[in-house]
Amino acid sequence: MARIVLKNITKNFGGVSAVDDISLETAQNEFLTLLGPSGCGKSTTLNIIAGLESTSSGRVWFDEDDVTELPPERRDVAMVFQTYALYPHMRVRENIAFGLRMRKTPPHEVERRVRNAAKKMLIGPLLDRKPRELSGGERQRVALARAIVRNPRLFLLDEPLSNLDAKLRDSMRTELKRLHGELKKTFIYVTHDQAESLVMSDRIAVLNGGKIQQLGTPDEIYNQPANAFVAGFVGAPPMNLFDGTLRNSGEGRWEMIGNGFVCELGTQTSGRLRADTPAEIQLGIRPEDIEVGMDGAPTASPTGLVREPMGSDLFLTLELNGSTFKARTSPTDRFVPGDRIPVQFRPDKLHLFERTTGRSLMDSPKI
Ligand code: ATP
Repeated sequence: MARIVLKNITKNFGGVSAVDDISLETAQNEFLTLLGPSGCGKSTTLNIIAGLESTSSGRVWFDEDDVTELPPERRDVAMVFQTYALYPHMRVRENIAFGLRMRKTPPHEVERRVRNAAKKMLIGPLLDRKPRELSGGERQRVALARAIVRNPRLFLLDEPLSNLDAKLRDSMRTELKRLHGELKKTFIYVTHDQAESLVMSDRIAVLNGGKIQQLGTPDEIYNQPANAFVAGFVGAPPMNLFDGTLRNSGEGRWEMIGNGFVCELGTQTSGRLRADTPAEIQLGIRPEDIEVGMDGAPTASPTGLVREPMGSDLFLTLELNGSTFKARTSPTDRFVPGDRIPVQFRPDKLHLFERTTGRSLMDSPKI
């Protein structure tokens, strides 16, 4: 149980502003992810919450307590790192028990809690092994067991799955989500992997350049990106972005003139346009919102460049007047590189951004 509040946190390292005036508040027992590219300030923010790093300015609160000046050992926080940080000379049992022993917990209580934590992390049979006798996935389970055995008020996880292979990472995502549901504690999770953040989080804070770009549920982040950075960072492949000019085509209808295409905005898209929308914009469309090879009038007929079959889906890289973009289609589509492929941008799935700042020009959908 902990509600974490960051108020105007700034951290400068010499001339580098690693964290730039970040404010956010978690809900009780929330799974909140800090997502962003390398160097955006995720780990520094996490370390400030842990007390491993001081702030240049701003305050950190855990529930009603201002912990800004409190040393890490008095914050009752457990951290899990990408590198596991296990003691190589100790067996799994001793690694998990270490923190409890340091706190002079009675031996029978230590044994009970170690067994419980090992059971939760499905590593009961591994208690007598040393870390070098474990796989990467098993080591990370030990690190997680060591975190949960202390029953801390808050879990901080810094890219804990990055060292695992893709298949194991997938199954550990599910495990972590299950664990969060079971423990009913606040988790703050750092990753640069947007897919991981979408799968696991209650909410995601997208960071870039030390600033929060958007804080929202995975659905909000994916479907209503606050700016072109978020639109381009979240989603695989990311949202396609085109420069263009917006034109009022009469009777409340709008169209966007791009390089080699004209695209009409649907009534839902037009209805969400902000009053102050300028003419020079950036248009965003996700690969899955581009219809390929349809019967109706196409938005454009680009040339096919690359086919990327993904089993359940097929991604096509298409070229239009010198710029490329991606569309998702069915793996049964037979288009080959060199074909002219008619595509339609779904009129109510368009996103509009200010060209200069990248800010979204759309209000939240009206439901
Ligand atoms: P990554 O995903 O690569 O770990 P990150 O988003 O976690 O990146 P941080 O580690 O928080 O980013 O770093 C943010 C910025 O602050 C970077 O420009 C980094 O070089 C700088 N930085 C971090 N720690 C220090 C330090 N101790 N001294 C100087 N600069 C630092």
